[in-house]
Amino acid sequence: MTYDAIVVGAGVEGSATAYYLAKNGQKTMLVEQFPLPHSRGSSHGQSRITRKAYTDDFYVKMMLEAYPRWTELETETGTSLFTQCGMLAMGTDGSNYIKEIRDALDKYHVPYEALSKEQLKTEYSINLPPDASGVLDPSGGILRADRAVRALQNQFLKLGGYIRDAETVTEIEPGAIVRIRTKKGTYEARKLVLCLGSWAGSFLSKHLDVRFPFKTVKITVCYFQEKNEGQYSVDRFPTFSFKRSVPYDMYYGLPAYEYPGLLKIFLHYGPEINPDYRDEKPDSSAQETSKKFVKSFFPEVKPNPVVTETCIYTMTPDEHFVLDRHPKWDNIIIGAGFSGHGFKLAPVVGRILGDLAMTNENSYDLTPFRLDRFNRRSVL
Ligand SMILES: Cc1cc2nc3c(=O)[nH]c(=O)nc-3n(C[C@H](O)[C@H](O)[C@H](O)COP(=O)(O)OP(=O)(O)OC[C@H]3O[C@@H](n4cnc5c(N)ncnc54)[C@H](O)[C@@H]3O)c2cc1C
Repeated sequence: MTYDAIVVGAGVEGSATAYYLAKNGQKTMLVEQFPLPHSRGSSHGQSRITRKAYTDDFYVKMMLEAYPRWTELETETGTSLFTQCGMLAMGTDGSNYIKEIRDALDKYHVPYEALSKEQLKTEYSINLPPDASGVLDPSGGILRADRAVRALQNQFLKLGGYIRDAETVTEIEPGAIVRIRTKKGTYEARKLVLCLGSWAGSFLSKHLDVRFPFKTVKITVCYFQEKNEGQYSVDRFPTFSFKRSVPYDMYYGLPAYEYPGLLKIFLHYGPEINPDYRDEKPDSSAQETSKKFVKSFFPEVKPNPVVTETCIYTMTPDEHFVLDRHPKWDNIIIGAGFSGHGFKLAPVVGRILGDLAMTNENSYDLTPFRLDRFNRRSVL
């Protein structure tokens, strides 16, 4: 059988793309190397932050589309995926973080509340450096990650899609009809969409002669215990971020939601790893840095993490995604480099990649996401 489209990679981005294609009447197969569900990539875990508070206005615009698309999925599947608790972005003047967020939100008339360092202290018990301030994006909150990926895959199956898990794609034969091979078979389609997460770099350079600079890094998520019961519960405390430039620091955090009384906090960077050997080398530096962060700024949280979990980021140098066609074969579409902030945008990414596959017009300027932005030399 010749499929209209094959999507490789059943993380949130590939699953959202497969769902969008099936919804648009495309006979689509989704192929995944690991048995589903799995915790080896970037999309596992119970929660992700969602927000409109971005420093780049094009992401604010995309988030205006993402919200109703998540709601549509909730309605279609009868599943609750979103908890609105707000998102509090905090930063020092030197980082320009808060100014850039305010400018981007202003451009799209997104409401927010500006907060001084003193208000952050009195309203949230957060003790920031003297030149810090914040922005509360009330539309922000938490997406239930595992549940969302499952909802996308279940809805894809309901729409007539096919999923083949525990099959690694090991070869690609480009052409008007693209063929892919796994140990179990050869499959063909008119369009191929590759959403390979942290495996994109090695796969694209080996099989499709595409190289772009990105790093796969291990992120250690730490869960810290509140000192006073209920103080950081999701009905009282928002999701949050903090950025400063000297020393460079970027953190994300969520209120006690996954586990009672435990805040989830993680540093936005980590050591470079090979995704096939993620936990081979023990590394406690991210944990130590997060401990210092909590100790300095969250006096009402115990500074030693009681639980840790790991996950992988695929970082591009500018932290923008890659959403583009292959430079030579335009029926091969690439979605990669989601740089630690791609979950919330998955329904929009799925639509963009799906439209590229169906050769539909795209309603976004995709310039920030093009492969050739990294410079001509990097795309061979
Ligand atoms: C700790 C952590 C916290 C995060 N927090 C947030 C947040 O708060 N908000 C937010 O918006 N984003 C967040 N993100 C980022 C977001 O989760 C990712 O951007 C997103 O999950 C990327 O999804 P993906 O589909 O590209 O990758 P993945 O989920 O890794 O999916 C890629 C899939 O491709 C499969 N694959 C690879 N090669 C092959 C092959 N050859 N054959 C078959 N299958 C293959 C892999 O097995 C994998 O399942 C966070 C990420 C992490 C790690």
